[in-house]
Amino acid sequence: MFNDKETFKQVFREKLIGKLGKPLEEASNADIYNILGNMIRESAGKDWAATNQKFKIDKDKQVYYFSMEFLIGRLLGNNLLNMGVLEVVREGLSELGFCLQDIEEVEADAGLGNGGLGRLAACFLDSLASLQYAGHGCGIRYKYGLFEQKIVDGYQVELPDYWLQNDNVWEVRREDKQVEVRFWGQVDTRWENDELVFEHKDYEAVRAVPYDIPVIGADRRHVNTLRNWSAESITQPSRVFGSLGGTDYHKFLEYKRSVESISEFLYPDDSQYEGKLLRLKQQYFLCSAGLQSIIRTFAKTGVPIESLADKVALHINDTHPTLVIPELMRILMDVYQLGWDQAWSMTTRMVSYTNHTILSEALEKWPIGMVRELLPRIFLIIEEINARFCGELMSKYPGDQDRINQMAIIHDDQVRMAHLAIVASHSVNGVAALHTEILQKREMRLFNEMYPHRFNNKTNGITHRRWLQHANPELAGLISESIGTRWMHQPQEMIGLIKYSEDASFQEQVAAIKRRNKLHLAEYITSKHGIQVDPDSIFDVQVKRLHAYKRQLLNVLHIMHLYNQIKDNPSINIVPRTFIFGAKAAPSYHLAKRVIKLINTVADVVNKDPDINGKIRIFFLENYSVSLAEKIIPAADVSEQISTASKEASGTGNMKFMMNGALTIGTMDGANVEMHEMVGDNNMFLFGLRAEQVLDYYQYGGYHARDIYNGDGRVKEVLDQLITPGPFCSHAQEFDTLFQSLIDNNDEFFVLKDFASYVETHVKIDLAYRNQKEWLKKSVINIGHSGKFSSDNTISRYASEIWHINPVRL
Ligand code: PLP
Repeated sequence: MFNDKETFKQVFREKLIGKLGKPLEEASNADIYNILGNMIRESAGKDWAATNQKFKIDKDKQVYYFSMEFLIGRLLGNNLLNMGVLEVVREGLSELGFCLQDIEEVEADAGLGNGGLGRLAACFLDSLASLQYAGHGCGIRYKYGLFEQKIVDGYQVELPDYWLQNDNVWEVRREDKQVEVRFWGQVDTRWENDELVFEHKDYEAVRAVPYDIPVIGADRRHVNTLRNWSAESITQPSRVFGSLGGTDYHKFLEYKRSVESISEFLYPDDSQYEGKLLRLKQQYFLCSAGLQSIIRTFAKTGVPIESLADKVALHINDTHPTLVIPELMRILMDVYQLGWDQAWSMTTRMVSYTNHTILSEALEKWPIGMVRELLPRIFLIIEEINARFCGELMSKYPGDQDRINQMAIIHDDQVRMAHLAIVASHSVNGVAALHTEILQKREMRLFNEMYPHRFNNKTNGITHRRWLQHANPELAGLISESIGTRWMHQPQEMIGLIKYSEDASFQEQVAAIKRRNKLHLAEYITSKHGIQVDPDSIFDVQVKRLHAYKRQLLNVLHIMHLYNQIKDNPSINIVPRTFIFGAKAAPSYHLAKRVIKLINTVADVVNKDPDINGKIRIFFLENYSVSLAEKIIPAADVSEQISTASKEASGTGNMKFMMNGALTIGTMDGANVEMHEMVGDNNMFLFGLRAEQVLDYYQYGGYHARDIYNGDGRVKEVLDQLITPGPFCSHAQEFDTLFQSLIDNNDEFFVLKDFASYVETHVKIDLAYRNQKEWLKKSVINIGHSGKFSSDNTISRYASEIWHINPVRL
């Protein structure tokens, strides 16, 4: 449509006038965004159609990535980048009197995810399309994304995130592709011609309407699809009234409201799930709608259903879409009349599962009564899978009832989704080497013994296009000037930067870019908080969901300790530090919300105290999201990755900071272990207990937090400040739940145990920063190694080792 600036300007101006009926000079930023977004989507439309046509003709194997979350963020900048027209558009708009960055700010973040798991899905989509794999996302079009966070008097307040307020220019409603999803009712079982027939009757029908978003790969040619499903009521009232057993209009409205609630909002829980019927409904809605549409697309190719497993791979992102398994069995048996064994063999060949956590509260279980009532046919299939699996266990481990109880899919009147996912998948992967090892040796040991070849590791990754090229264009430019541009397609070639790690001029340029990024962030912070930020201070950042295991509390206790030190000795010689936090807490997670209040309380005291004199400053940036992450991460000097070892399955924030030249202070947890393997002790600041030690404490006991409180004066001082009126505590109850969690409940996440080593390691950071040459060398080494964490690398391994697909060449 346009490849040069002049054509762009002309086409853009014509579109704008044609659509809005007003001259360019009167257009607002929102007008410009809408016209530009539509123009880009339309332009990608040709490639989108061509990609789909190619799939149809060549009957390429397709991968479908099922995820309850896709935290995609804004799309305009990324799409321009991948289409190769970012600079043309930036310059063209500028000549028309508009700033692309301001236009990008108009776009609402698509916050259809909680954190790492949802953002991973979004990075994977970008890599799938960029590497030209036939791989698509399958998700829910929530009307409300993750809540918008406001901080009021230091407390988190949640507001609805109505991201669709202005039209979403990227999506296309595909009413022609709608399908029907069925809930409730009962199953009629009878024999017909020697076949057992299952008929689902008296169900409530829901219309699933897809909204498709093009996923534009780098170099634009390849365009995949993210298909998000919206729940709507059936449009033929006679059918609805029939199933409701009457013609009551109020009943219809009730039905309509209950249907629409299915895709109303994303559950704002990160790793803790409420046993809610609505959540189960959402999961089945996604699985059933997604599968029906996949099989319909497949059927159009004319390939016989028996070959489905050669042409389709289904990946489930954590256990949330596990119902894909019984739903696929249902379709193969009840619709296509295949027998159990054939359907089962096809299902297990097609499905693969990623485990994201060992936190027991996040392992999903559903009461059998709920599953039986809401999904009667699906429940029968799960029961049968369980019966056959338990039979297999009995013959393999005769008499070992304990093992069978531990491994059964249905136990204690609950359906264990992880067990169902493992039993019915051909591949189960963890998301970092350490996490996979813990799964195999501890959490899923029995399953690993039974299916030793099923478990494998795929360390998470991040797309370097969004997180480096788009978020930090100056650094990306410097990399290209130094080692050429091949790294953009082969990110591991960033390793070539290592030879510049001691090059003074290269270091200076890295430092200048970092400083400019810090200045931008400083301006943003000042605009929000009204406080000046010193761009020469160390920007020490912890941004991620708020969770006890991620230990934001450890970070803030250390800051309180620093404050106490400076108060005792106002002339203490430390490098000034700006501590930056960003984190949403699940609305019902009271302890996490207290930590937010504590951070803000400490910030308020410290930032105003003249004795501190700017030596340390603290900011809690509200509403952490993908677009905020893109501002913060390129400006960070220090990345806080301080989870209790064994608890953070991988982390992906850690990789983004590394790629942008921040140095990590971290525990040997998740992918930090692999970062350490690459860069070594000299280029990372490690501290704290190792995973084995933590797991042994959990198993054998022997940790007494109160001993540390009594034995370490620094710990006692800061903990007492939580519960006695003083600078940080206005009344005795303010933070007593935090104190209790550490002392009375014996500090489940080893905050106090790791405190001393954390403090010491921060002193090392202070010393290291004083030697800028050495610091920059470490920074460059980190950037150079970070290409290994590109999701291109991760996706290539999923493709060849799990999905068995090759790139398709258009
Ligand atoms: N939330 C957002 C907006 C992110 O960009 C990321 C980064 O990956 C995460 C959450 C996950 O962060 P972490 O891996 O540090 O938990």
